[in-house]
Amino acid sequence: MDFVQFCKKLPKIELHAHINGSISPQTMKELVKRKKATKPELADFSIPEGLEYITDFFPLFKFIYQLTDDEESVRLVTRRTIDEFAEDGVRYLELRSTPRANPETGMTKESYVASVLSVVNEPRQNIRVKLIISIDRRNTLEEAQEVVDLAIKFRDQGIVGIDLCGDVMVGSFDKLKPAFERAKAEHFKITLHFNEVKENIPEAPSMLSVNPDRLGHATLLDDASRETIYKNQCPIEVCMTSNVLCKTVSSYEAHHVKDLLKQGHPFVLCTDDKGVFFSELSNEYAKAGVAFDMTREQLFQASFQAIDAIFDDDRVKETLKQDWQTWRKLNQQEFSG
Ligand SMILES: [Zn+2]
Repeated sequence: MDFVQFCKKLPKIELHAHINGSISPQTMKELVKRKKATKPELADFSIPEGLEYITDFFPLFKFIYQLTDDEESVRLVTRRTIDEFAEDGVRYLELRSTPRANPETGMTKESYVASVLSVVNEPRQNIRVKLIISIDRRNTLEEAQEVVDLAIKFRDQGIVGIDLCGDVMVGSFDKLKPAFERAKAEHFKITLHFNEVKENIPEAPSMLSVNPDRLGHATLLDDASRETIYKNQCPIEVCMTSNVLCKTVSSYEAHHVKDLLKQGHPFVLCTDDKGVFFSELSNEYAKAGVAFDMTREQLFQASFQAIDAIFDDDRVKETLKQDWQTWRKLNQQEFSG
């Protein structure tokens, strides 16, 4: 098995994947065909096949939102995305998405979440899937509370956590904080897109005060945040390609994964938006392996320790750990030499 194949075959955990950013070009094409009657103009958009064609991600996201503005499309993209992760060797997946409504198609935030969950809960042999629903930084507190209401309503159907996402330069955490405090009180796990740009640093103490269970990115750690995060052993969702392409980190080699590795701090390699950044999770493992000179054993350990960061319960963690160890035994020959 060569290195790339090894990274693909390695059982993996994906914990930071936005559904709409994870849609592959093939699925986009399928949706354009489906929308031919109602939105023929979508066929004029040239779907990028690789990064070299993209100078700005914004038009692509705008296009994707138009493709996924009805319940059936939402179900389709969720299903395709899960299948693609499974094919890439992901055995446990936490997808995330912000509930969206579209009066034109009759989709409500509630039916959006119900549509995603109906697919999340389809029977599968090779991958376990859970859902995190997101509060957008642009949301009002009322809208944020509505997300928590939906989480409570659909708790039994596989919602494991609440996320804070969206444009890092917009809104304030303090305004939305009561929704996160309520989510915590309701025993949901919390993950926050954290400290991506220097403008986020002043709100870091407030964000850390809700005791998040994981943090997304955390690319720019000020001393006080670093101390709290290390002390609390709060796992970091690391999305290297996303960080490099969004220029919050200058290169793979400069990525703060190296500090986390040195510190022995828990982190989880993730994709963020695999459809838009053209990087599957196996590629993130391969990139980390090359950038930080990680052995196959270290990559296996990185994947194994990610199990402890999942939002599902201890019973699932135990089962996953056994699966990983079984895989390790069966593939012993890949680790020698
Ligand atoms: Zn993200």
